[in-house]
Amino acid sequence: ALKPASPPTTPNPDSKLPPATASGERMNATFVTLARNEDLWEILKSIRSVEDRFNRKFNYDWVFLNDKEFNDEFKKMTSAIVSGKTKYGLIPTEHWSYPDFIDQKRAAAVRQEMKEKQIIYGDSESYRHMCRYESGFFFRHPLLLDYEWYWRVEPSVKFFCDINYDTFKFMAENKKKYSFTLSLHEYEATIPTLWDSVKNFTKMYPQHIVEGNSLKFISDDEGKTYNNCHFWSNFEIGNLNWLRSQAYLDFFELLDQAGGFFYERWGDAPVHSIAAALMLKKEELHFFNDIAYYHVPFTHCPTGEKFRIDHKCTCQSTDNFDWKGYSCTSKFYEINGLPRPEGYENEQD
Ligand code: GDP
Ligand code: MN
Repeated sequence: ALKPASPPTTPNPDSKLPPATASGERMNATFVTLARNEDLWEILKSIRSVEDRFNRKFNYDWVFLNDKEFNDEFKKMTSAIVSGKTKYGLIPTEHWSYPDFIDQKRAAAVRQEMKEKQIIYGDSESYRHMCRYESGFFFRHPLLLDYEWYWRVEPSVKFFCDINYDTFKFMAENKKKYSFTLSLHEYEATIPTLWDSVKNFTKMYPQHIVEGNSLKFISDDEGKTYNNCHFWSNFEIGNLNWLRSQAYLDFFELLDQAGGFFYERWGDAPVHSIAAALMLKKEELHFFNDIAYYHVPFTHCPTGEKFRIDHKCTCQSTDNFDWKGYSCTSKFYEINGLPRPEGYENEQD
């Protein structure tokens, strides 16, 4: 005779959605994706990967944001595979346009110059609006005001190992505010004066710089210069209330006024990272070593075969970027006094 399957531990309140299998309470958390309609087929692959490895067990919501209206096909296809509720938000024009203090002719001249120098995305206007939006506005979108925690997901990313626990709950229980899987050095040419603005910020708002921070992660000379290390922001699990704090808002406002999002090509990764390194305690940052992740062209694959077997991983340890020369993760280990995992030597360049 057939044996009945055991009932799900936590039936999903919306009967159209599949049941979650992980028992217990959920955090006030959501996935968040900034995307264009034409990103549909690549974001579907990312969502499938997140669902298979994590979210089918937890059924967290997913918020999609766009500077244009999402079309019906985008909504239909994404809502079909997200196991939680899906929400679709239009970005207000004020958050995706030039502030009045920006000289648009100067910005256009910079794009031309950077194009000739072949700086990555140097000639792109939309990329700059995107970086500024991710730096200063996504967490203030009305759809995100309802949440405390977010997990950012981009098109074309992959997750390689099972995640069997609630990462949001982990963040809360361990008093974490910001996290990463990959870290690396930023291209100097995209941020020539970013550190000058950071120094202005620390002078103007000394009260926002916390004791026991991670200055050593971003500067090798006690703050004189930036070493270009940053957490890669295409993956983030973080606390939205921190980004909405006066400290972070003052930081963003000062950077925005300096004009570097348009007169240079400041990325949201160094912006978030510098903020996290200066305005959070060391202990509030977390390296998710157990979240195996790929965003072109880098992979984080946990060192150690036993872990990869136990979590049904599909990544190859030789692809792991952590211990290679261009990564900053070994610096993160160093400043936090973390012991390197056994076998890391085999994964260096
Ligand atoms: P990269 O990872 O730095 O190469 O940049 P991506 O092309 O992946 O863009 C980063 C994120 O912003 C992704 O989630 C994109 O889908 C999204 N994005 C980039 N440009 C735009 C845009 O012009 N409009 C919208 N709505 N999303 C964008
Ligand atoms: Mn990307």
